[in-house]
Amino acid sequence: MSAAKSELVKLSAAEMAAKIRAKEVSSRELVQAQLDVIDAAEPSIDAFLHVSREEALQQADAFDERLAAGEADGLPELAGVPVAVKDMIVTKGIPTTAASKILEGWVPPYDATVIERLKAAGMPILGKTNLDEFAQGSSTEHSAFKTTKNPWDTRRVPGGSGGGSAAAVGAFEAPLALGTDTGGSIRQPSALTGTVGVKPTYGGVSRYGAIAMASSLDQIGPVSRSVLDAALLQEVIGGHDKRDSTSIPKPVPPLAQAAREGMKMDLKGMKVGLVKELGGKGYQPGVEARFNEGVKLLQDMGAEVVEVSCPHFAYALAAYYIIMPSEVSSNLARYDGMRYGLRVMPPEGTPQTAANMMAATREAGFGDEVKRRIILGIYALSAGYYDAWYGSAQKVRTLIIRDFEEAFKQADVLVSPGSPTTAFKFGDRMDDPLAMYLSDVANIPANMAGTPAMSIPAGLSDDGLPVGFQFFAPQMRDEVMYKPAAALEAALQAQWGGPMHKDLKTPWLGE
Ligand code: GLN
Repeated sequence: MSAAKSELVKLSAAEMAAKIRAKEVSSRELVQAQLDVIDAAEPSIDAFLHVSREEALQQADAFDERLAAGEADGLPELAGVPVAVKDMIVTKGIPTTAASKILEGWVPPYDATVIERLKAAGMPILGKTNLDEFAQGSSTEHSAFKTTKNPWDTRRVPGGSGGGSAAAVGAFEAPLALGTDTGGSIRQPSALTGTVGVKPTYGGVSRYGAIAMASSLDQIGPVSRSVLDAALLQEVIGGHDKRDSTSIPKPVPPLAQAAREGMKMDLKGMKVGLVKELGGKGYQPGVEARFNEGVKLLQDMGAEVVEVSCPHFAYALAAYYIIMPSEVSSNLARYDGMRYGLRVMPPEGTPQTAANMMAATREAGFGDEVKRRIILGIYALSAGYYDAWYGSAQKVRTLIIRDFEEAFKQADVLVSPGSPTTAFKFGDRMDDPLAMYLSDVANIPANMAGTPAMSIPAGLSDDGLPVGFQFFAPQMRDEVMYKPAAALEAALQAQWGGPMHKDLKTPWLGE
C-alpha cells in the first residue's frame, strides 16, 4: 500500500469529501483505494460477504462525471464517498443474505430506501458486510458464512450483530457503513471496535428494504470513524418515506450543525444525566475508568452532571427477550422455501408435501440461534401464555419509556458505557446464550423506547481494547446527542493528538 493511499483511506469521510470537491482526488480513485484496502485486509478481517467492485466503480465514475459537468452542487456534502452496507439491507442486483443459508444466492429485485438515497447522493456501495444470522447475536459468530475479526485484536470478536460494518470501518476498508440496530447491533460493535455507531430515533430512518428482525425495534443507522461523519450520513439516509408506515413525517433534525457546534467544546448550560442502572456490577473496571474520564471531560467543558435513576432498565433485557423473539417468530415465517432462497425437498420416502418441504427447508436453512428464538417467540405468543409473557413484556416496555421521560426532565442527554466489556475472545460466549445476551444490556433500553442513542470511542481499556461511551437523547431529538458527542470526541482527540485509530496497528496495509 503506498503511503499516499494509506493516508487517504485514514481520513474521515468529511475530509475525503472535501478532497473530492476540491478535485484533489476523484471518487473513482477513492473507491479504488478502498477496494485495494479491502483486498489487502480481508484475509485478516473477513468483514465482507460480498464486494460489489464493478458497481462501486461505475457509481464512482457516474458521480465524477456529474462533478465535472458542474452538476454536483446540490448533492449532500458526502457525495462521492463510498459506503459499506450490512447484509441485512436489500440491494438491487447485489446478493443479500442476512448471513443465512436460507437466503444464499438471493439477488433482490429492489433497493432499500436508504440505498436509493445513497445512490441519489452519489455515494458508491462497496459491498455487503457480515453479521450474525438475521442480526441475532452480539459477536458475528452466528453468521452462517464466516467470523469477522476485531481489527484491534484479530483473536477477538468485533461485536454483533453488525460486526462486519464496524470492523470494515475500523480497519479502514470503508470510511462509512450502514448497520441495523434492534438491540444494540450498531452501538455494541462500535464500542468494541472503537468506531462511532448511531441508532437514530425509531422512525427517523426508513426501514423499507431492511430485512425485518423485530419490526417494532429495528432501526437503520450510520457507522463511521467520526461523529460529524455519522451526522452527515444520517442526514443522507434519514427523513420521511411513505413506503414505511412507521416513518416520521418530519425532516431530519440538523445533525451536522449540532456536531459542528459540539466541536467548539463548549457545553455550558447542558445537563448530562448519568444513568445509575447502567454501570457497576458486570461492567469491566477498565470500561468504567474510561467512561468516568469521559464524564469528567464533559464537566470540564461546562456541562452539569447529575445522576438519574431509570429503575425499570433492570428489566429491559428480560422484556426484550420476549418481545424480540415474538416478532422474530412472525417475521421469519416468510422463509418457507416457496418464495426466496433455499428450497430443500423432504427426504426420500416421506410424503412430498408443501409442509414437509417447508420443514426441511427451515431445518437446513436456519442456524441454531435463529431456531432458538423462533421457538421462544412461538411459545411466548401461544394461547394461554400470551398475557403472561408478551403482555407483561409490553407493560415493562411502557415503564421503560416512562423512565426515559422522567430522566429527560432532569437532564438534556443521558450517558452510559457503550458496552459493559471490551471485545471478548472467539468462543467465549458461544456456549452460554445468556452471557451473549448480556452484551447488549446497556443498549437495549433505547430500542425498547425508540429513543436515539450512539456510541463513540472513549479510549483503550487497560487490556488495550476500545471502550465505547454512549449518549441517549429524547425521541426525535437526535441532534441533542450529537453536540456533546462531538465535544467529547474533540476533547479526547486533543488528549490523544488525533483520532483514536491512529494507534491501531494495520499490518494488512503493509505497515
Ligand atoms: N445482540 C442483540 C440480539 O441478539 C442485538 C440484535 C440487533 O440489534 N440486531 O438480539
